[in-house]
Amino acid sequence: MAVSFEPLRKILELEQKKGYDNTAVFGGLDRFLKNWAGQVTEAILDRRLLGRFQQLVIKVDYASLSEKQRLEWVDSVLSLVVELEGGAPAEVEPKEKAPSLPKVKRVKSVKSVAPVSGQGLDSPITTVRGISTALATKFGKLGVKTVRDLLYFFPHRHLDYSRIKQISQLTEGDEQTIMANIWQAQVTRLGYRQGTEAIVGDETGNVRVVWFNQPYLAKRLQTNARIVLSGRVSLFKGRHVFESPEWEFVEDKDLIHTGRLVPVYSLTQGLYPRQVRKLMKEVVDQWAWQVGDFLPVEMRERCDLLELPQAISQAHYPEDETIKDRARVRLAFDELFVLQLGVMSRKHDWQEKQPDSAFTIDKELTARFVQSLPFTLTTAQQRVLEDMLSDMQKPLPMSRLLQGEVGSGKTVVATAALLMAVANGYQGAFMAPTEILAEQHFATLCQLLSRAGSQEEEAPYLKKFSGIISRPLTVALLIGDMTPSQKQELQKRIMDGEIDIAIGTHALIQKGVEFKQMGLAVVDEQHRFGVTQRSALRQKGFRPHMLVMTATPIPRTLALTLYGDLDLSVIDELPPGRQVVKTKWLRPGQRESAHNFIRKQVAAGNQAFIICPLIEESEAIAAQAAVVEYERLSQDVFPDLKLGLLHGRLAGDEKDKVMQRFRARELDILVSTPVVEVGIDIPNATVMLIESADRFGLSQLHQFRGRVGRGQEQSYCMLLAENPSEVGRERLGVIENVQDGFILAEEDLKMRGPGEFFGTRQSGLPDLRMAKLSDVKILELARNEAIQLFQVDPGLKKPEHQPLASEMARVWPQASVGEWS
Ligand code: ADP
Ligand code: MG
Repeated sequence: MAVSFEPLRKILELEQKKGYDNTAVFGGLDRFLKNWAGQVTEAILDRRLLGRFQQLVIKVDYASLSEKQRLEWVDSVLSLVVELEGGAPAEVEPKEKAPSLPKVKRVKSVKSVAPVSGQGLDSPITTVRGISTALATKFGKLGVKTVRDLLYFFPHRHLDYSRIKQISQLTEGDEQTIMANIWQAQVTRLGYRQGTEAIVGDETGNVRVVWFNQPYLAKRLQTNARIVLSGRVSLFKGRHVFESPEWEFVEDKDLIHTGRLVPVYSLTQGLYPRQVRKLMKEVVDQWAWQVGDFLPVEMRERCDLLELPQAISQAHYPEDETIKDRARVRLAFDELFVLQLGVMSRKHDWQEKQPDSAFTIDKELTARFVQSLPFTLTTAQQRVLEDMLSDMQKPLPMSRLLQGEVGSGKTVVATAALLMAVANGYQGAFMAPTEILAEQHFATLCQLLSRAGSQEEEAPYLKKFSGIISRPLTVALLIGDMTPSQKQELQKRIMDGEIDIAIGTHALIQKGVEFKQMGLAVVDEQHRFGVTQRSALRQKGFRPHMLVMTATPIPRTLALTLYGDLDLSVIDELPPGRQVVKTKWLRPGQRESAHNFIRKQVAAGNQAFIICPLIEESEAIAAQAAVVEYERLSQDVFPDLKLGLLHGRLAGDEKDKVMQRFRARELDILVSTPVVEVGIDIPNATVMLIESADRFGLSQLHQFRGRVGRGQEQSYCMLLAENPSEVGRERLGVIENVQDGFILAEEDLKMRGPGEFFGTRQSGLPDLRMAKLSDVKILELARNEAIQLFQVDPGLKKPEHQPLASEMARVWPQASVGEWS
């Protein structure tokens, strides 16, 4: 049986990152290990490794270890994992001596170098000396394929090892740097394994240094060599000792690992910090100057931005904090500027090329539909409906983003718009991010329409309504579940124009589905949909009107930048009579009472969600943790209740099955990874318990909370957090007291980056790595510059804008470029 040690490695690395506070996995490491290790021991065939694994991993009582013991333990488990995975033990320095290539000390100006084209930047990273195919594969896993990617592979933070201290000034606990002579170095036994111990000294005294687990170092540390050490100093038997510091010989070259702001890269298996730092230094020194600055000079000067090559090299190896910040500002500006410009050109181009698609608005029809509803539209719903109707009357196609809180009633407004398209003889498409939601929309729409006219069923997925418009109106659901022949038939009828409104998932934009004349496309829960998918849908029709709906409240400035191709409408009012979901942040000791509370609610006939996140970076690991947690909850905590499990690794139909069982009340509790976040409507669920709630952003917590409180019963949201950071605590306090999604989003954006917030990675927008949402000033600056430039030269045709034009073509994904170039 093949077993992955990846989860363990990720957790331990997270534990290191979090400072060994036993919170990398909720419930603590011991609980996780107990559940997880049992599953893997039988897969370890090497008896020697198995012995060590049992000794080290199974017998540990992590909770009771001191911080220092935890550090050592994590260290040794990590190196054991490397061996278990069949790799070499721990860090191995590349054997060959660094090639002595000409060095560019510091990049001051591009003007001073010959205008080399920089073509080499797009060649594979194996072009770089010292990068083998094997190493390139490892970088490939991080999305780094070309030399340029490598230059843009920025560290996520820096360690400040810049101040060199004297040994006599060392203090316990802090990260510090010294420059010293090696007096002696030898292999030594530390705990259960070998390490290296050295004594080093400067003119003020001597200090002991230990490296756990790196006995091979002893040979390299020759007596009398000059060395720089950076790391944490602790007290052992009353004496200072450096514990596994970064080290570097003092030679006639720049320091890389010590004595400066040292970059910390997010690495993957098989890449080691020292190796990558060394490599990056060479790459930055040799290649950064070749990057052409694509911003027009006067813009760069007006905005007081660093030159690009300098910004890149300072982002990796900054001389000091100030220039590091300026480097980030330049790179963040680039991201936001290019994003803004792309989005604007796309809208411009798209609208310019439009054939006349104006609808005639039938006021009487709208009034009749609104009157048939079982409720009165809120003022906000009316306003948005009017916005849309007036958009659709114009010859330019509508391109509108509709924001509205969870439960604010977006579907009904979309239905009214679809009706108008149909009345004008066009077809409408309604896309949802999941099949469950598509089915939900189909049911809702049919229910609404059946009040306005009379309904005849043709098939479970096909309904006809008469008495609404002058001809019968046909609504169809197209999802993956159908038989191929059902699908084919539906597709044919869509193509023939027999279907007026088609509802589905991305299946609607797959090959084979052609619309006869699509007039309006509605996309729900926009943040799950990519720009590319949106444009694919548009191309299905005669460049139809477009309504995009989202429950993610996006602050205005940001919406204008990220979705600058869309106009904005907001439903800022909930229908009357909505209940507030009572939200409570519980202490870890209260978990049991939370479980008891769930039990009581279930006994009263209600249902509950339990959200269990683990490590945000990986759905696979989150899934595995959810499985463990699900088993624990079913066996130990709620053995008498019916639990279901939902995670991202389940196949689509398995997910649907679980949801259907939950909807049909066959399950009492749904244990889930964060996949449950989007639009699900289960009115009978009244409790939401969120584990490790401090790991989520406010908006996401708010989305989770929106899953309950949809019925008549009072609903509850309980938040658990093991050991939240300062920021985490602040966030939990806010969500406990604030119900308004917009206020929460504003707060959220202050704390998180836009890439994270919107998942730009999946959205088809250029990635945002350096920009933060708190960068409101840079955002506005970039937006203004983009608007000005766009007025002067929208097609980027002027010679001085050529570099920018190529940058745009490079950064924007092909599919969306097609739309605006
Ligand atoms: P969302 O904006 O989250 O998509 P929905 O469109 O699903 O919200 O609407 C949530 C619920 O509120 C639905 O059951 C819908 O029938 C109901 N609803 C919508 N508008 C109103 C209103 N003006 N008054 C009362 N209930 C409404
Ligand atoms: Mg909705």
